[in-house]
Amino acid sequence: MAISSNLPDTSLGPPTVLRVLDFEAAVDEVLRHAAELRGSVAGATEEVPLLESAGRMLARAIVADRDQPPFDRSTRDGFAVRATAFSAGGWLSIVGQVRAGDVWSGPPLADNEAIEIMTGAPLPAGADAVTMVEHVELDGGNIRAQQGRRVSPGENVVPQGSEARAGEVVVAVGSTIGAAEIALAATAGESTLAVAGRPSVAIVATGDELVELHETPNSRQIRNSNGYALATLVHLAGALPYRLAIARDVREELLQRIAEARQHDLILFSGGVSMGKYDLVEEVLAELGAEFFFTGVKMQPGKPIVFGRLPERRKDGSLFPARYFFGLPGNPVSTQVTFHCFVEPSLRTMLGEDVSGPRFAQATLAHDVEGKQGLTRMLPARLESDFRQASVRLVGWQGSGDLAANARANCYAVFPPDRTEFRAGDVISVLLR
Ligand code: AMP
Ligand code: MG
Repeated sequence: MAISSNLPDTSLGPPTVLRVLDFEAAVDEVLRHAAELRGSVAGATEEVPLLESAGRMLARAIVADRDQPPFDRSTRDGFAVRATAFSAGGWLSIVGQVRAGDVWSGPPLADNEAIEIMTGAPLPAGADAVTMVEHVELDGGNIRAQQGRRVSPGENVVPQGSEARAGEVVVAVGSTIGAAEIALAATAGESTLAVAGRPSVAIVATGDELVELHETPNSRQIRNSNGYALATLVHLAGALPYRLAIARDVREELLQRIAEARQHDLILFSGGVSMGKYDLVEEVLAELGAEFFFTGVKMQPGKPIVFGRLPERRKDGSLFPARYFFGLPGNPVSTQVTFHCFVEPSLRTMLGEDVSGPRFAQATLAHDVEGKQGLTRMLPARLESDFRQASVRLVGWQGSGDLAANARANCYAVFPPDRTEFRAGDVISVLLR
């Protein structure tokens, strides 16, 4: 935490209580605020055309408008029969045909009869099974079971309503909409869907050294890449990013930017949260009465990350509700890792999903790695998987500023804090991105 000796205002100071949490405790702390995070989204539910709903979060359940399947459906091309009679092996006479989209209008099938049937056609009355065309002997207008072939009642038939009953919820509120959900909506005849409003997210990059893309950096300056990385991550998470102007490491500029930022549903700061003399973000937030749920996490990269909430405020007759914020460390890989660990689950929560934390998978470590006691490490790595297994290998990196290494990676290999040695062949977690 910085002691802000560069500023004359002595009322400034770091948050009074420092809370540096273990990684898992920090994730739990974020999830503990799930209900309030969800309640903090101002954007209303929207009704959108079905094909524009992909990637959004469902806000009104999709309900089956009729039984699924709507009739006893044949899953094979073959013959509708009475199972016991067919399995006895005698000749059955073919009395008709039923195609997908047709219905059998003749009398109920008798024991010595069969009806030719296609995949997707309704089972004729009287029949209780379908035998595959490959399993019968054909002789003119008659069939019989091939030697040793039998069929059981119900075989190759999906009963009416067995996938879903009319009125049953087939996709729950909070589901992310993809092809599977859109197919169910189409099945239920829904040409529009209600989706959750997108949270609006303010992105405040802080740092005296930063310049924007339209500016030419001098030899000491760097371009504000975090603003763009965060805007992309926010967009990919389904929310609306707003990149505010860069804030210099001075109190007045930070105050100004926070005043703009609190009009949004969530605030992300990048930089200015470490121990440096000009890391003022926490001080200024504390001055505004912010609560801090954690002021650091025992992880690497990402240790200085801050999570808190600005109190409700009235100004010029307008009410700014309480606003959650994350202070992400400025080192670009730290920014991205901490986004995936803490911000992404928060955004998914705000969109209505029932979130259990960051997205992890398991993979086999390809080589030995040293851990660090007491720190959860998440190192840029490549996950390669095939049909049988997933293996993960670290990419070489120069530390948490190494954007090039970060781009060579496709995930972060996770090394928990309680071991210092990891061996090739160990199964470890990877943080997906
Ligand atoms: P800070 O967290 O402010 O101490 O910054 C840590 C490191 O990240 C420094 O090397 C900064 O120059 C760099 N950094 C901070 N903000 C950004 C940004 N928006 N884009 C790229 N690098 C940044
Ligand atoms: Mg800085």
